[in-house]
Amino acid sequence: MPAILIHIAFGYILYHLITHFEKFKNLRAHYFLFLFLLGSLIPDIKYFVAHLTYLIFGSENFAVFSSLVVTHQIFGSFLVALLLSATLFRNKFKISLVILTIGFLGHFLLDISQYPFASINHMQLLYPFSAQIFYINLGFINGIQVFEIFQYVILIVAITLFIASFIRGKMRNISNNSK
Ligand SMILES: [Zn+2]
Repeated sequence: MPAILIHIAFGYILYHLITHFEKFKNLRAHYFLFLFLLGSLIPDIKYFVAHLTYLIFGSENFAVFSSLVVTHQIFGSFLVALLLSATLFRNKFKISLVILTIGFLGHFLLDISQYPFASINHMQLLYPFSAQIFYINLGFINGIQVFEIFQYVILIVAITLFIASFIRGKMRNISNNSK
């Protein structure tokens, strides 16, 4: 599990990547951006719940925690995405489900590229249907983990995109005001 910040950054990049295409320009909205970010965090929901139970009960509730392990698998994440799309985002059910799915698949892509540092149950993506472990071994360059470099690149790209869209927004405001 890379840091939450990296997962959010990757969701942010996915949003920009997809909405960059003219075909998907109607997705350029805060609503959809939020869905991309939310989707990228779905598999780690158990950590948020564990933290919440810690705040409420003063200790981690392991029963809750271990029963939520299922959210860190494709099937479980899909169920969460389905549940969210059918309730909170039911006005835009289909597109919400698609975006949340893209988001959590991006999460898994990051997780499995952390081999061999990710824990086994973070790489058994098809559990409980299969115990197959999925991983991408990025290896080392001069003793430095390529995965770590990859994380920095994600963060830098996301920050660059953020600044660029901030500046673009400001420019648009200025040109609108001068009209
Ligand atoms: Zn994860």
